[in-house]
Amino acid sequence: MEDFPKLFIPGPTHVSDEILHVLSTKQIGHRTPEISILIKNIVNGVKELLYTNNDIFLVSHAATGLWEMGTKNSVNEGVLHCINGAFSSKWALSSEKNGFFVDTLEYTWGCGVKAEDIDRKLSSGKFDVLAMVHNETSTGVMSNLEEISSLLKSKYPDIIWLVDAVSSMAGVKIEVDRLGIDFLLSSTQKAWGLPAGFSLCSVSDRLIQKSKLIKNKGYFLDLEVYKKYYDKFQTPTTPSIPHMFGLKKVLENISKEGLDNRWSRHIKMSKFSQDWALNHGQSLFPENGCESYTLTCISNDQQWDINKIYELLLDRGYRMDRGYGNFKGKVFRIPHMGNIYMSDLTEYLKNMDDILCQLKY
Ligand code: PLP
Repeated sequence: MEDFPKLFIPGPTHVSDEILHVLSTKQIGHRTPEISILIKNIVNGVKELLYTNNDIFLVSHAATGLWEMGTKNSVNEGVLHCINGAFSSKWALSSEKNGFFVDTLEYTWGCGVKAEDIDRKLSSGKFDVLAMVHNETSTGVMSNLEEISSLLKSKYPDIIWLVDAVSSMAGVKIEVDRLGIDFLLSSTQKAWGLPAGFSLCSVSDRLIQKSKLIKNKGYFLDLEVYKKYYDKFQTPTTPSIPHMFGLKKVLENISKEGLDNRWSRHIKMSKFSQDWALNHGQSLFPENGCESYTLTCISNDQQWDINKIYELLLDRGYRMDRGYGNFKGKVFRIPHMGNIYMSDLTEYLKNMDDILCQLKY
């Protein structure tokens, strides 16, 4: 089998041999009792992971489709999009293309989304939906959901809250019911440590009720259709069954590790990466207090030759991240999620250190 470098990019992330093996489990039919057992098992595991009694839906497509599932089933009046990086910006674009009334709250990249700014916008009364990205993968910024939850509960209880947790779900503790998140979405290629092309979401009952009143939402992403099938632990369309076997395995691993251990391990890995960067005279790209727990975004203050480091790491079998889009070379990101454990991280940074030494930095 062809051998590729170990991925140290923030998605798709490295998939371990153990998981790769599970993905090749013999296929089962999608209208059989065995798939319902499998789906039920996953749904219960995800509920536990997200501290929720909400419905959990698994979908066989990228998370981008779930952005549209969220908005198509909720927006009547207008959607406020908080934009603080590439993915939150694309989500707003998707809403514009869907023809919704859209307004944006725009931040300099590197900043977190703030409750007081949301308050200012929502007070106009023009919106029934708020959409934001919890963990902006493009900048390594994690926003504070607690403050936004308090704001919505106290002043805007009717607003439907949609949260993209693509690079935080399964790596960061998100208490869906306590926070009151109506729609939380993720795809599997980040902190879940599975291949891309599969996604999942938690959906509140009031969102499903609201969906019933929405016109022209199509069929493929209709929450009512999903609800009907998931009440039988089935999917509306033929799903990617290997991903389901993979999810089951990841949930078993999470259960063995323990949720609290998992959350604190990710915090430890982020602290370790941050210290590594600071000890090398670099600084952190995110504003203070908004550093992600699943990836560390480092400003290249030392003006290291990132392309050279990238090539040398590749020679050693590692695929490095060189920064998102226009930030290439000016920042670089270290992922610590999915199948990247502390031993993988230290192995990677040790190789990076050797190369930095070789380049006389
Ligand atoms: N949201 C965030 C925060 C992401 O990082 C990404 C992908 O990197 C996406 C959404 C899009 O995910 P997908 O490629 O599964 O549609």
